[in-house]
Amino acid sequence: MDPMIVIMLDGISADAFARFQARMPYLQGLAARGLFVERVAADVPATSLPGRTSILTGVDAAAHGIYGNLIWDGGRFRYANPDDVRVPTLPRRALDAGLEVAVLGYGMVRPEDATTFHHAWWANEMLQRARDEAPIAADEGWLRTSRHADASGRLAALAAAGLPAGVPDAYAGDRMHYLMSELTGDQTMLQWTAALAAGAEPPDLIVTEVLTPDSVQHVAGHDHPFALWSLGYADALVGEVLRSLEAAGRLAATTVVVTSDHGHGPVDGALYLDTLLPGATCASEGGVAYVAVDGPREAERVAARLRPHGVARLPGDHLPPDRRDGLAAFAVPGRAVGFETTAPVDRAGAVSGPSRYLSGHGFAPGTASDERFLIVAGAGIEARRLPRASAEDVAATASALLGLPMPGGGRALC
Ligand SMILES: [Zn+2]
Repeated sequence: MDPMIVIMLDGISADAFARFQARMPYLQGLAARGLFVERVAADVPATSLPGRTSILTGVDAAAHGIYGNLIWDGGRFRYANPDDVRVPTLPRRALDAGLEVAVLGYGMVRPEDATTFHHAWWANEMLQRARDEAPIAADEGWLRTSRHADASGRLAALAAAGLPAGVPDAYAGDRMHYLMSELTGDQTMLQWTAALAAGAEPPDLIVTEVLTPDSVQHVAGHDHPFALWSLGYADALVGEVLRSLEAAGRLAATTVVVTSDHGHGPVDGALYLDTLLPGATCASEGGVAYVAVDGPREAERVAARLRPHGVARLPGDHLPPDRRDGLAAFAVPGRAVGFETTAPVDRAGAVSGPSRYLSGHGFAPGTASDERFLIVAGAGIEARRLPRASAEDVAATASALLGLPMPGGGRALC
């Protein structure tokens, strides 16, 4: 079995990957020599923590339990964390099979599920609540899993050789510091990935991620030059991994898997939940809204209030069975409308208006802009294009290549 690298590029859609090929030459080259799936179906909801979890578990949110960036704990919505994942992840199953596993900055994996572990650099920012519209209490699960674990000394050796020893805290009170932490964090994780994969004894599995394309697209807009730069930045970081492998004579004998947690697309506008549902406890997952309810009757009352605004209730079968009575899920079919928990200050009392984000994801199930892509390249993987795959197929394919059993309904694509 060849070593495998799984790289998640946050928020690069199937459409962007097809339209802006010239900005991503390394990824296009990788796609051309391996399995390339043009469109991977979106998770429900198509947001970051559900997407990350699906990629590593091969089951949907009803089974893995991460049905939103925010989940309901019975009294409040809070950020989902690695301890909330209800099924074993790919790193855990690889570790149980005796493989050596490095998880470098990939969210939603527990530290004890890898031999070498560095938490997602953005977890610090999440804990400091820099991005919240309204403060959400600091989270014990993220505190526990926000760690650097390097018992084998692999990362310390890289630092001794001149690579970064870690990532500065993501938030120090200003946006410039945040942006630089992000760029540094992504580059550090991929530098570590390149150095470990091309080093003397590469781990059997490396799992990592790049966040920048998602955050830049949200703020700058889908086709903005800054957004296109962020696609090129992610591509260059992957390119450095490939170049290092090639220089070490390892490129042909390393399986490289690249995918995204969700797509991205222009946002038509927003609905403001505090005006639509005064007094209700709500959470936004982009274009999916969750409302805490007492049971089916209250869910129906909420649905009746939202219906005149083009909002439809989702069946809720993507929720874990123990959450279906207490949460109602909503989306706006056919339009890229986001939900925001509070109206902007200058629009207090409005039910709708512009979105805080120019580009977004997590819209009604079936929205094409939420779809992403998959590349799997390595020895024995023939060059082939597939028009579509399911979300579950990503983990099933990676598991099969590692020789691991894979629960869930996904197909191994190679
Ligand atoms: Zn994301």
